[in-house]
Amino acid sequence: MATLQPVRGTHDLLPEDARRHRYVEQAAFDVAQLYGYGEIMTPVFEFTEVFARTLGETSDVVSKEMYSFTDRGGESLTLRPENTAGVARALISGGLSQSLPLKFFYRGPMFRYERPQKGRQRQFHQIGIELLGVEGPQADIEVIAIGWHILQKLGLAEHVTVEINSLGDTESRNAYRAALVEYLSKFRDKLSQDSRDRLERNPLRVLDSKDEGDKAIVAEAPLLINYLNEHSRTFFETVRNGLGKLGVPVKVNPKLVRGLDYYSHTAFEFITSALGAQGTVMAGGRYDGLVSQMGGPATPGIGWAAGVERLSMLMGDALEPARRPVAVIPMGEGDEALLVAHRLRQAGYAVEMGYSGNMKKRLARANKANARAAVILGEDELSRQAATVRDLDSGEQEEVPLSDLEVRLARFR
Ligand code: ATP
Ligand code: MG
Repeated sequence: MATLQPVRGTHDLLPEDARRHRYVEQAAFDVAQLYGYGEIMTPVFEFTEVFARTLGETSDVVSKEMYSFTDRGGESLTLRPENTAGVARALISGGLSQSLPLKFFYRGPMFRYERPQKGRQRQFHQIGIELLGVEGPQADIEVIAIGWHILQKLGLAEHVTVEINSLGDTESRNAYRAALVEYLSKFRDKLSQDSRDRLERNPLRVLDSKDEGDKAIVAEAPLLINYLNEHSRTFFETVRNGLGKLGVPVKVNPKLVRGLDYYSHTAFEFITSALGAQGTVMAGGRYDGLVSQMGGPATPGIGWAAGVERLSMLMGDALEPARRPVAVIPMGEGDEALLVAHRLRQAGYAVEMGYSGNMKKRLARANKANARAAVILGEDELSRQAATVRDLDSGEQEEVPLSDLEVRLARFR
């Protein structure tokens, strides 16, 4: 029966996977806090408008990937496909533009109706940061440096390349748009239908096309980087120099673009070749036009989002092992064990309980739980108000009075 299957493109995270997930999220947040970023938690759903307006009606996400539904009150709502729109909405609806600059970190599930494959799910998780209210290139440097710092902390930096490009300011993009339209118009008949529409409405989006025919045409298109005016060139240079000083290795990729109008200046992606087709682990850019496009006060902004599944996959087993518990193993009914376990937990030990079975079975289970030590409560020991404490790594054991357990187990903590 279909309803007993998880929905296509969704996954259960069992404890070992969930731990890896949390580890990635927490390591990222720890780094973000070093830069003064605080966590923001926006709702998982918003009015559909919030995304339709910001991502653009012609974007893939809005036209094909959104999970939208009408609620009982007749409102059209959408499960968030990304978090920047929600943050911008929060800035506007919460009147937060009084207190710029704002520095946010977020983490959580995102939803997109796409074809599931390795590294691509319908419910996936992102971490991300947004820096709002800083116009100068130091913001771009900081935001990219945070991303790099996080990858270093996760031990992933060597697997990842940082690609960067500049989309310039409005004047530069207008000059480029004219050149691009002139070029693309020559191939109008060969473009996909989608791209022909985009050519009219938003030509820069053609550069994002996934259609193979379009890609071949785009490969020869003029490059935005050659249309940057003085201001945009200086801006871009400052960003690259700053990152160079901080030791963030960046590679200029003149083909890296964002096809939406509100993007300007810096665009970047953190890419790996270790995950097959889904190689982008982190993507971001400057979105100075976003908040005003949503109807708020003109507010510069820059940020990135990273896929937690992709980062987790990249980490593989390179995760510090989970905390090792102490196993309490009763031989008889186990009333005493209940109490011993309780006392040890109160003292801050992680305690695994040997629930049932013979001694051998219980020890095997303790080993499976990767317990560091076993506290064995046999009849004999109990009659002396003591327990046998066995070091499960070395096999050494000794008898310890019950009253001393908290202290004597300290080295197994
Ligand atoms: P792609 O080109 O892979 O579709 P995108 O441009 O749609 O990516 P963004 O919207 O920039 O991706 O999202 C930022 C990051 O979130 C991506 O780099 C990726 O790591 C992750 N991500 C995006 N969509 C998915 C998905 N469906 N499943 C898992 N991770 C995803
Ligand atoms: Mg996508």
